Amino acid sequence: MHSAQFPTSHFFTVDVEEYFQVKALESVVRRDEWLSRPSRVAHSIDALLTSLERNGTKGTFFVLGWLAKHRPEVVLAIADAGHEVGSHGFWHERVTTLDRVAFREDIRSSKAALEDLVGESVVGYRAPNFSIIPGCEWAFDVLIEEGYRYDSSLFPIRRRGYGYPAALRVPHVIQRQHGRLAEFPLATTSILAYPVPAAGGGYLRQFPFGVIRRAFQEATDRDEPATFYIHPWEIDPGQPRLPVSSVNRIRHYRGLDRALARVERLLEEFRFGTICSYLPRLEDRASTAAAEGAA
Ligand SMILES: [Zn+2]
Repeated sequence: MHSAQFPTSHFFTVDVEEYFQVKALESVVRRDEWLSRPSRVAHSIDALLTSLERNGTKGTFFVLGWLAKHRPEVVLAIADAGHEVGSHGFWHERVTTLDRVAFREDIRSSKAALEDLVGESVVGYRAPNFSIIPGCEWAFDVLIEEGYRYDSSLFPIRRRGYGYPAALRVPHVIQRQHGRLAEFPLATTSILAYPVPAAGGGYLRQFPFGVIRRAFQEATDRDEPATFYIHPWEIDPGQPRLPVSSVNRIRHYRGLDRALARVERLLEEFRFGTICSYLPRLEDRASTAAAEGAA
């Protein structure tokens, strides 16, 4: 299956948010302070766009609706460079903290704000903090009803606060009562038979690079695309340090100075593309399987 001529194209994804919009800092920076904090997202997005351009790669950027409203130039720079724009919700609220009505409003308003700005349809969603966990499957139904074609929120690992351990570890189609949704879980590898997160982000910054590379090499060998993610603030060593607990300080600030070099290494060693360009293949496969099942 694996062909040296056409190596597997993985998914390069970015969760686009400001450094002060993350969960680790929510007790420190309230929502009504967001506009008065210095914005740093543009600089990091520029750096990522440059790296992607240098490698001739397109990526999928899951953007907050809030940024479409307040930092439209950043979102337009992403879209103008030919990358896919998906939704990361409007207010960066975890699905676990919302009910059906509030979740619908969040994914509807972010989709509308992003579509109005970039003039393309938004079909993908990434939950803040991968917060579609067991018990939150109703979110798939709302995503289908609101016109999304795929989700990329399941992390097939067991972690405090997130993770969907039973999720398939490869792209697949979730069949719900009233429709289907493609799912692109975050990359993992196994060490001594334990699933280990290897999709990027904090793991890219804090794990040995070899763990991340191994996940993408294994996926390439199986000819199955794997999903990588990074946040703009993770490549921004100059961001203001906010007063948080020592655990959060390590989680949030460790390895910032080496993350961009590691991103570039991955981009050089593996092939990446957008999720939406792969979507028809997955949907066709699911339709064929369903037709065969019905026959
Ligand atoms: Zn996020």
